[in-house]
Amino acid sequence: MLGLVKKIFGDANEREVKRLLKTVDQINGLESSVTPLSDDQLRAKTDEFRGRIAKGESLEDILPEAFAVIREAAKRVLNMRHFDVQLIGGMVLHQGKIAEMRTGEGKTLVGTLAVYLNALKGEGVHVVTVNDYLAQRDSALMGQIYSFLGMTVGCNLHGLSHEEKQEAYACDITYGTNNEFGFDYLRDNMVLYKEQMVQRPLHYAIIDEVDSILVDEARTPLIISGQAQKSTEMYYAADRMVSRLTDTEDFTVDIKMRSIALTEAGVSKVERAFNIDNLFSHEHVTLNHHVNQALRARYIMKRDVDYVVQDDEVVIVDEFTGRLMAGRRYSEGLHQAIEAKEEITVQNESMTLATITFQNYFRMYRKLAGMTGTAKTEEEEFKRIYGLEVLQAPTNRPMVRDDMPDVVYKSENGKYKSVVEEIVRRHATGQPVLVGTVSIENSERISELLKKKGVAHQVLNAKHHAAEAEIISKAGQHGAVTIATNMAGRGTDILLGDGVAEIGGLHIIGTERHESRRIDNQLRGRAGRQGDPGSSQFYLSMQDELMRRFGADNIMGMMERLGFDEESPIESRLISRAIESAQKRVEGSNFDTRRIVLQYDDVINLQREKIYGDRRAVLNAENIREIISGMIRSVITKAVESHCSDSDVPEDWDMDSLVTYAHSHFLPEDRLTKEDLWGKEKEEMIELLVEMVNKLYDEREESIGEETMREFEKVVVLRAVDSKWMDHIDSMDHLRQGIHLRAYGGNDPLREYQFEGHNMFLDMISRIEEEVTMYIMKAQVQAAPKREAVAEGQAVDTKADEGPKRPATRSANAVGRNDPCPCGSGKKYKMCHGRID
Ligand code: ADP
Repeated sequence: MLGLVKKIFGDANEREVKRLLKTVDQINGLESSVTPLSDDQLRAKTDEFRGRIAKGESLEDILPEAFAVIREAAKRVLNMRHFDVQLIGGMVLHQGKIAEMRTGEGKTLVGTLAVYLNALKGEGVHVVTVNDYLAQRDSALMGQIYSFLGMTVGCNLHGLSHEEKQEAYACDITYGTNNEFGFDYLRDNMVLYKEQMVQRPLHYAIIDEVDSILVDEARTPLIISGQAQKSTEMYYAADRMVSRLTDTEDFTVDIKMRSIALTEAGVSKVERAFNIDNLFSHEHVTLNHHVNQALRARYIMKRDVDYVVQDDEVVIVDEFTGRLMAGRRYSEGLHQAIEAKEEITVQNESMTLATITFQNYFRMYRKLAGMTGTAKTEEEEFKRIYGLEVLQAPTNRPMVRDDMPDVVYKSENGKYKSVVEEIVRRHATGQPVLVGTVSIENSERISELLKKKGVAHQVLNAKHHAAEAEIISKAGQHGAVTIATNMAGRGTDILLGDGVAEIGGLHIIGTERHESRRIDNQLRGRAGRQGDPGSSQFYLSMQDELMRRFGADNIMGMMERLGFDEESPIESRLISRAIESAQKRVEGSNFDTRRIVLQYDDVINLQREKIYGDRRAVLNAENIREIISGMIRSVITKAVESHCSDSDVPEDWDMDSLVTYAHSHFLPEDRLTKEDLWGKEKEEMIELLVEMVNKLYDEREESIGEETMREFEKVVVLRAVDSKWMDHIDSMDHLRQGIHLRAYGGNDPLREYQFEGHNMFLDMISRIEEEVTMYIMKAQVQAAPKREAVAEGQAVDTKADEGPKRPATRSANAVGRNDPCPCGSGKKYKMCHGRID
């Protein structure tokens, strides 16, 4: 085998394989010691390994024995003994690399080796598949081996209840799709009680078909979107109300802080107008927010200075350059409040509540590994973005598939005609044929032509994973003709029927080149598995999209001069080379797109990690008063500094505004007067204010009771963090969409985005601190209010469903208007969170 290895692979790869072969020898040497063990003795090995790991042995020390044990278990349970090359694959996975193994080499079984070894640590191993069907199939089949060895296996399917998910995640090994793992992560960071989280810390993941998941799907992030619980009518009502208020009497404007606050008189007027007792009580948080934004919209934001009104839309004006920032919206409902003030339509678009790219999700695992039949063409990307190396494992048997040169036609018609003739010709001999297409439309076109010729066939469009897996598994039977889009039936093995090997095995016909050579290789890889005979050929035309995009005109001209007609094919090296270089160019530009998505996501990723980290700390803590005290101090410090910043001379300080700000945010009017602060240094003022607030805090805590206070603190902080964070990512989204408008003048849009994104984040932190301070110090609390979600979201993934030509948008769990609302209220969705006001 080594000779063959040398022939096929480059030096570094070969050296590594050689090195791993030494361990293979070791594992083979252990076989005679595990074969005689009884089932129980074999199972007892699991506990023995766990014990040794607890005592400090490393996984590497245990690897040879563990691999020998799992191989023996697979033999007994599934009657499959891992081939030597599969042991190599298993070691590569354990090292946290990508194992490239050809189709049919048995990657599913390879996975068991690294899964078992790493699951011994008891921290959870995730096996990631591209769809639920494969997760179920693989967990059921391979699960037999794990259970036999005393390990628990869970399957994290879409739509499981909370408890079921927790159970699945608590298992030693959890199967599931990339979407489901990613969405669970996002949802875990929206829960209100720590008991509602489902995931454990992310320890080790093995991604099956890693190129599909980390490359093909990497351009579209996972998004949970939804409507924050707002009604547009509220904006108009709030605006009508504040239009009746008078400056200084009812509210005070703080020009420096660009903030505005109601006086006590103003508060009473609002309370009377809306017929409520206390604007600051918890149940009026939304109203309070609307009133505040209405105030800002009406008395701070100036038309034709801060914004203009154009075609029923409010467009922001950049304060420094005066440019119009089309597409951007003010956050936190300020934009809507201005729309109400200007009496135009209030747009309450659905907003992003949480989002993450697969890149950033999977990079959180302490160790990551992947397997696929096709990774080498994207090696650089894996390395640079994920730090994942690719190692090609040798095949178990030599590959004998005949990959024939492309044939190219002038027109699509000519191409399809020949494709059908070729199918008919091969079909007549009984040879099975699998035709790959890039779109449903093309599948149907071929299907129509075949019907006219009376050839029975199957068409697969990657719609029904289970049913299609069944059909594709039979694509190697005598006389079978199967037409499938790229994605259809992936992950399913095609076995040859009786006598098929003698007539040439499975023949693959590709009808169009994909943008990426990797996808073409996947199609070819459907034939010639495990040393089977087989063949493949691509039929192309100058009218194919890829050809049109890349210099087909020249070649067309050449064909015309040479007098080619519609139906004569040309086989030319020149053209094959042109196609390959076109593909390389597209691959390169797609890689750039993915890198850019990631660079933008990296900005928000740091912020997300910070916020999610803090949020978890709040959920897990018994008592967060100290955290809140820190926030209050920060609010006080900022207030003092900004009101006393212009001058070192205390006489110039704007003490009136400072005191007003303190009154509206943390101290009642009878507690603080200007005289209290008179003649003090800034630091002294800060300390005095902190002290006064702490005293009031103590008093409030005493009067409402410690237990209620503790819960109230959490309610307030979670609410502030969630609502501001959701607003923030939404604004970041708007920022990103509009950032290219600022790319002129030599500004690098990414730099601008990083810079402004960072400032927006700092602003958000200030607003969180301010809101928390205000509620803790001013809200009236009788009993601890219940924690309530700020918004209900729906998981949405926007993924190409049937090949990249037709990106279909689908929502992972779209709720019908008459279905029960997912929030659990028991009301119909249209009457609850799906309400359109
Ligand atoms: P891949 O995903 O690499 O294309 P699969 O995991 O679908 O391959 O496995 C291909 C086929 O080979 C399956 O039918 C599987 O049961 C079989 N197989 C894999 N490994 C072995 C083995 N060591 N012994 C016997 N059969 C095996």
